Amino acid sequence: MRIRVQEVFDAATALPGHDRCAGLHGHTYTVEAVVAGRASGGVLEDFREVRRRLREVVAPLDHTDLSLKFPYPSCEVLALDICARLKAAQPGLERVRLWEGEGKWVELEAGEVAAAAAGPR
Ligand SMILES: [Zn+2]
Repeated sequence: MRIRVQEVFDAATALPGHDRCAGLHGHTYTVEAVVAGRASGGVLEDFREVRRRLREVVAPLDHTDLSLKFPYPSCEVLALDICARLKAAQPGLERVRLWEGEGKWVELEAGEVAAAAAGPR
């Protein structure tokens, strides 16, 4: 069984050397986190708890300039960072999907993340 929670944040970003995204610009990011497990007593895990943990992971990125935190803040790099930090806090984390605006996302499974992945600067 799986549950999913979602948070939204806004940030500035720039991708050095990229033909379109090299200049400073902004995105609204939507993060989805999926937790897998068994429901015990009718509940897998309280949605509020999972959202609280996801909010704590996203807070250091919200309304910041991501290009000051990561050398190359692509959606892939951000998804990896979010997944790594959430994995450390959230038991049963299965996957994280990070939407950049609408119509495009990066998804990774918690198992793809090395435990020692670096966080933001
Ligand atoms: Zn962009």
